[in-house]
Amino acid sequence: MTNKIEAPLVRLEWDAANELVDNASNIVTVTHVSPDGDAIGSLMGLTIALREHGKTVMPVVDGGCPDFLRFVPYSEDIRGMIDGLKPDLVISTDASDQPRIGKTGNQLLASNGVPLIQLDHHQTNLLFGDANLVDARTVAAAEGVLDWILERGWEVSQNAAQALLTGFVTDTLCFRTSNVTASTFGKAQILMEAGADLTLIVQNTMARKPTSRHRLYGHVLSRMKLEDGVIWLNLTVEDFKFAGMPLGEYTGLSGYLIEADEAYISATFKEIEETVIECSFRAVPGFDVSRVALSLGGGGHVLASGCTITGKTLEEVEELVVPMLKKQVQLGKPIYR
Ligand code: 5GP
Ligand code: MN
Repeated sequence: MTNKIEAPLVRLEWDAANELVDNASNIVTVTHVSPDGDAIGSLMGLTIALREHGKTVMPVVDGGCPDFLRFVPYSEDIRGMIDGLKPDLVISTDASDQPRIGKTGNQLLASNGVPLIQLDHHQTNLLFGDANLVDARTVAAAEGVLDWILERGWEVSQNAAQALLTGFVTDTLCFRTSNVTASTFGKAQILMEAGADLTLIVQNTMARKPTSRHRLYGHVLSRMKLEDGVIWLNLTVEDFKFAGMPLGEYTGLSGYLIEADEAYISATFKEIEETVIECSFRAVPGFDVSRVALSLGGGGHVLASGCTITGKTLEEVEELVVPMLKKQVQLGKPIYR
């Protein structure tokens, strides 16, 4: 049996989404917890474009904007709390399910039955909006936002372009993931012609990292395990303390491990508390980690996904999940070598 990769999920309910936006004046935009460059880039690109078209828009993210993304235009407007906000529309970006938009997002939705548009590009999206704008062919939620702006016939301003290009660059690892097409470059060209500064983005995201991350890598890499095409690492609370990294901070280690040429699937298992374990998965083209993540309550892309498992220790999670990943290795075949 081989692992047939499903057709990309595409559900673009433009008319319903446009009607909701046209009837709203007070909008809150939200994105996923532990936001990355595409989360903040798509959130702010959309926020800026809507503001330029007469809407009052407040971006809200649990915990506010991470420090390393403060170069994104107007990211200083991002609030960590919803106190006093009574929007007539909520729009989420880059989240594949409703729990993923965090405490603040869910409080907003629960409070007054406000409608939700959700815009995303994950294959595992659960179509949880009143209007869904999901296109798993797009390389970033930021690309979906650009598509929506262009669909509306709006100009892309320099600030919106800067935010959106951030999503393109970070989610494609600088245009080198396997989903990048000629059209991706065409859209990046539109954003750069609108004035987006590529080097500013690269220097703030891909090319520079907290030094503590190097310290963590030096501390843990010798413990990596490689069996049957799966390469993985357990990361403990002590590892984070040793490296001087805030607990739960993004490590990028699953993306680093997958570069090992004997591996087809990589994983890190990160201890947040004794029985709260964050899993991060990567695969090389020809394999699929999205279904494993989805079956464990998470989600993501075919080649990059994740989940959080509660009620099991680090060792118990490793024992449960590594065999599932080994099975995915059996089901796949490398496409390129
Ligand atoms: P990362 O390993 O970089 O944290 O995440 C890889 C991909 O999986 C990202 O697209 C991210 O949005 C998705 N992902 C990671 N953890 C979760 C989760 O707990 N739930 C869902 N739905 N997606 C996740
Ligand atoms: Mn994304």
